[in-house]
Amino acid sequence: MSLRPYIVGNWKMNGTRAMLSEARAIDRAAQRHMKVEVAVAPPFTLIHAVHREAEQIGVGAQDCHPAADGAFTGDVSASMVADAGAKFVILGHSERREGHGETNELVRTKVQSALAAGLKVILCCGEPEERRDAGAHEKFVLNQLRLSLPESVDGAGEKLTVAYEPIWAIGTGRTPTLDDIAAMHAAIRGFLIERFGDAQGSVIRILYGGSVKPDNARDILGVAEVGGALVGGASLTADSFMNIALAAGDGEDA
Ligand code: PEP
Repeated sequence: MSLRPYIVGNWKMNGTRAMLSEARAIDRAAQRHMKVEVAVAPPFTLIHAVHREAEQIGVGAQDCHPAADGAFTGDVSASMVADAGAKFVILGHSERREGHGETNELVRTKVQSALAAGLKVILCCGEPEERRDAGAHEKFVLNQLRLSLPESVDGAGEKLTVAYEPIWAIGTGRTPTLDDIAAMHAAIRGFLIERFGDAQGSVIRILYGGSVKPDNARDILGVAEVGGALVGGASLTADSFMNIALAAGDGEDA
């Protein structure tokens, strides 16, 4: 089981084929920094092309439909993204929860369907600002996890990753304090051990996401229980994304 720091780029609704040059540059750099596991989740339209270019980096999707196939116009299933070359899928991102009304229950069915299709899952959780201001952030996030994750997952440690992304930190340039990140990651670890047992729950990687940049990555990635980062805006160029990966590898080449 790989315990290397995991740095994942979420390209969101960005990128045409012109962006394949960035994917190639990320891949080449990742080959030189093997202490870090690097992956990108491009839009559906680029998964296959990035997969064909990539020798080192993992390629994933940003969503999938819970059903295996059928009359769901405009949707894409887990087995379809796997067929295109995806090895993982990001599920439960706040932009899906908020912009598409995705509930915890729907996210859980997506997790089940992704795992059944042989994909690994990066499950996102994170509180809105008013929950943090009210001091209810931990309760909110643990409840999201409780309801969004299946009761049991064979090989959970290998198949699941959790990404803690406070909604108010996404794309805003604001981040929680390092102590706040440490407290939330410790709480999530406690939950994962309770849900999946010590052997599996203690090795599920917990990523931090929300305005991670080259200049704050080293501090954030140094926090206890932060196993990597889910990066939005700063993953769109190879230069900034790989500087984050470099910080995760402590700046040393393999
Ligand atoms: C995200 O949306 O997953 C994210 C972390 O975005 P950003 O890095 O741009 O805050």
